[in-house]
Amino acid sequence: MKVLVLNSGSSSIKYQLFRSADWTAIAYGLVARIGESESELRLNWLDGAGEPQSSRSSLPIPTHRHGIDQIVASLRESGALADVAELAAIGHRVVHGGEHFKHPTIVDDSVTTAIRDTIPLAPLHNPDNLVGIEVTRTLFPGVPSVAVFDTAFHQTMPPAAYRYALPESLYSEHRIRRYGFHGTSHYYVAKRAAAFLDKPLQDCNLITLHLGNGASAAAIHAGRCVDTSMGLTPLEGLVMGTRCGDIDPAALIYLSRNLGLDAEALDRLLNRQSGLLGICGVNDMREINRLAQEGHADAELAIGITAHRLKKYIGAYYAELGRVDAVVFTGGIGENAADIRRRACAGLERLGIVLDKAANEASEARGERCISPPEGEVQVLVIPTNEELEIAQQALAAVTA
Ligand code: AMP
Repeated sequence: MKVLVLNSGSSSIKYQLFRSADWTAIAYGLVARIGESESELRLNWLDGAGEPQSSRSSLPIPTHRHGIDQIVASLRESGALADVAELAAIGHRVVHGGEHFKHPTIVDDSVTTAIRDTIPLAPLHNPDNLVGIEVTRTLFPGVPSVAVFDTAFHQTMPPAAYRYALPESLYSEHRIRRYGFHGTSHYYVAKRAAAFLDKPLQDCNLITLHLGNGASAAAIHAGRCVDTSMGLTPLEGLVMGTRCGDIDPAALIYLSRNLGLDAEALDRLLNRQSGLLGICGVNDMREINRLAQEGHADAELAIGITAHRLKKYIGAYYAELGRVDAVVFTGGIGENAADIRRRACAGLERLGIVLDKAANEASEARGERCISPPEGEVQVLVIPTNEELEIAQQALAAVTA
């Protein structure tokens, strides 16, 4: 059987097709610029001999429905999917499941209603995720659609971690609390880290650091999430590509009173114009590293603030967990930026967190690896994330449960 994973955004749909027998990704690609005069369809697939092939075409794709139609048609043409009947499930990434969704869920009408109900909490993401789900339910009624939520893994946080120190009614009436995101990635790398450590996940205490353009940390106790750095929205916590992470909320009051910024302007400022981009004008860590090496002070500061914040979270989560088996780096920065890993872990020897310099800096190293000395008290691991695979496996598990 095969499982199709869809990540439906406002003007694009990313997809990946897995063969469940060995979880090989047999095809992946995206539809971009939906609704524009020239949309783009990209497909990469393995042909019958297992050789990688790719195609790219420009054509008008006016709606998500056309986009998903085109994805399936191109998968059929390539031979990656002979018939829709081969699909055991379609897994959909859904950003926000509120408090309602703690597990991957087979979609029926009541589920779409509940996802719609969370739109006020994720107005930029959930409507597009929902469109993808509704289209596949209409186009392929015989294939179960499974919603896999970015928030679900963090639903095990205790109230002391997920409640803000705000009036109770804001929680009970307006659902203002910390939810956390990137849950699929944190769960995936936690499982892989446990396998790496050769221990059951429920025996592992982990600090997982998903550091990409968006970034978040999670504290995992006995395999369950007990704290995470993102909050009501993905803005809280670590320094990100264009998002500021933690700031004094009174800064917003100040900006509103003194610069006259309204909600839209504050949203734009904090989500799109801040973070690495705001500090040094660039949000690509490779470029920032290059600029820092050339002596650009702003780039050096961007790296400094990022590593400083990361270290604070590692220390805080260590204190919450009491004992830590491994610190796990993932995401484009976590997997590749040795300098950020070095700075985030520097000075934490008393906590048992020590890097093996050569292993951390081995530029050719890829895949799951340990970058601390083997006898280290806390293992420091690099585990490439694979959210699509996790969604596919959760979707199949949901329909075969
Ligand atoms: P992601 O959102 O997980 O794709 O991660 C994107 C971030 O990873 C960007 O800031 C990239 O600059 C960064 N990144 C990717 N490769 C490297 C690398 N080799 N060194 C440093 N940063 C990298």
